[in-house]
Amino acid sequence: MAFRATILTLYPEMFPGFLAQSLSGKALARGDWSLDCLQIRDFTTDRHRTVDDTPAGGGAGMVLKPDVLAKAIDHASEGDNRPRLLMSPRGKPLTQKRVRELAAGEGAIIVCGRFEGVDQRVIDGRQLEEVSIGDYILSGGEPAAMILLDAIVRILPGVMGNALSGEHESFEGGLLEHPHYTRPQVFEGQEIPGVLTSGNHAAIDRWRREEAEKLTRERRPDLLTDQPFRK
Ligand code: SAH
Repeated sequence: MAFRATILTLYPEMFPGFLAQSLSGKALARGDWSLDCLQIRDFTTDRHRTVDDTPAGGGAGMVLKPDVLAKAIDHASEGDNRPRLLMSPRGKPLTQKRVRELAAGEGAIIVCGRFEGVDQRVIDGRQLEEVSIGDYILSGGEPAAMILLDAIVRILPGVMGNALSGEHESFEGGLLEHPHYTRPQVFEGQEIPGVLTSGNHAAIDRWRREEAEKLTRERRPDLLTDQPFRK
């Protein structure tokens, strides 16, 4: 069965957004994955359709109400075993490893926070896995959810034209990727490194490996120590 994404959001009109373009858009049109959005506000029961309230203990901003959000989550996850994710800057930073695991599954239910965030009791009570896309604060979970989906969808079977191009990518081997070049042979006085036009595939592989290691050491030494399973 194709990967199914269900988004819980106050801004369903933001979707599919850029996911409707390019590879993910074609894959969506083909049915290689599906996307549906639930409007959290549809699960309110009061006359004013209230989704947020002031933070207990005081302070700035508003908090998504647990009762409304829990109802939306329960609706989405009825008879459903997909992982329930909450986009959140407090979450575990997203990695290519987690992206691969999610892509191998049936899909995901993704909650997009707004305001100051969501009531802790719904995170605990509905066992939401908090996922962060980086150490910075967005105004809402929607762009984060789209980024997560973009990363998942591009590795679904049949989505990426040249399947091989996924395998040497940054992070896949625990390293950043080597530099790329294409024609012209000379650009602004700079030549393509000779080894790449030598036709010697063993030498090319070696050069790429060395460049990848050098780049990783310089820019992301944490990748070298964080991943002892690296070959
Ligand atoms: N007060 C919160 C930030 C709220 S930002 C805090 O300091 O932790 C509003 C919403 O945007 C969040 O609920 C979350 O869904 C989303 N969001 C913001 N930054 C994010 C990030 N780096 N990764 C994933 N989601 C993020």
